[in-house]
Amino acid sequence: MRKQFDINNLVRPNIAAMTAYSSARDEFKDFDQEMIFLDANENPFDTKVNRYPDPNQTSLKSLLAKLRGVQSSHILVGNGSDEVLDLLFRAFCIPANDNIITVPPTYGMYKVLAQTNDIQNQEVLLTSNFQLDVTTILSKVNERTKMIFVCSPNNPTGNILSSSSITALLENFDGLLILDEAYIDFSESSSWVKQLENYPNLIVTQTLSKAYGLAGIRLGICYAGEDIITILSKIKPPYNVNSLSQERAFERLKSQEKVSQEVQTILEGKKQLTKALNEVSFVKEVFPSEANFILTRVDDASLRYTQLIDRGIVVRNRSNQPLCSNTLRFTIGTAKENARLITILNELQYE
Ligand SMILES: *Cc1c(COP(=O)(O)O)cnc(C)c1O
Repeated sequence: MRKQFDINNLVRPNIAAMTAYSSARDEFKDFDQEMIFLDANENPFDTKVNRYPDPNQTSLKSLLAKLRGVQSSHILVGNGSDEVLDLLFRAFCIPANDNIITVPPTYGMYKVLAQTNDIQNQEVLLTSNFQLDVTTILSKVNERTKMIFVCSPNNPTGNILSSSSITALLENFDGLLILDEAYIDFSESSSWVKQLENYPNLIVTQTLSKAYGLAGIRLGICYAGEDIITILSKIKPPYNVNSLSQERAFERLKSQEKVSQEVQTILEGKKQLTKALNEVSFVKEVFPSEANFILTRVDDASLRYTQLIDRGIVVRNRSNQPLCSNTLRFTIGTAKENARLITILNELQYE
């Protein structure tokens, strides 16, 4: 029988007990008139970044809220998704006590963060068609299982996880389900952010690193219930997103049209590359992808990987991941880059 979901049963007691560090910018921020700021030991001379950034990322969050159709109070932003994911571990998992469940083949950071935080990582493989094995996942859950990490569209396989399997986890697991939507803007499927009101145990993460083309500024986003956001906000470093990143993220989010044009171009490139890959003799399988990359199974992944490197193209060899023997992952590049890749793949067939 499913127990009742209660965030107070999940948060670490030391985190529940603490109060957040209150920064100078937190303590004084509401002002109508021009003020003289002598409270944060900043340098008064203007370098454009001599002041600390907004610790609450107010403008950025309200724009994100508008775009995604949620309230700002349901959003936390961090220094990349990596920081957001690490905050989840530190808020909810007691080191050397609790455990999480991950579903390989998937994004490698969940495992690294589990190790860093001394949290046991229970792995349940995806099925042969890269879907969730819900029964086995639920059978691994015990009273110390705090989080289940799933990624959709999944990296490195590229597929969407079925919504019925995600719903099954949400309805039968009384810990937190972390749904990583790093690639959602390349997909036909809609985001689960709209489902937050229905599932208090759902946490959705997104990033500006992929479709938004801002990997260099490190901007990750967490969407969740207000109680979860409050807990995470308490432990985040006060100035975790720097001023330059906040500005660049804001500008880019304002340019939705440009972003969707680029996404369309990438999707077009994916279509062409998929077609070309299917015609290469040593490519055995091209897995359907709803992301900006294509996973393929080849005859000999390390041979093909090295041959591509010798010709100036770096792809990712994913062969050491379970269910991924002899696979290479190709990110979609510019039209010119994709064309070059296709030319080289065609040449390699005749070596
Ligand atoms: C690329 C990627 C991210 C992005 O992480 P950032 O730290 O925001 O750059 C997150 N999750 C998955 C599955 C990814 O592939």
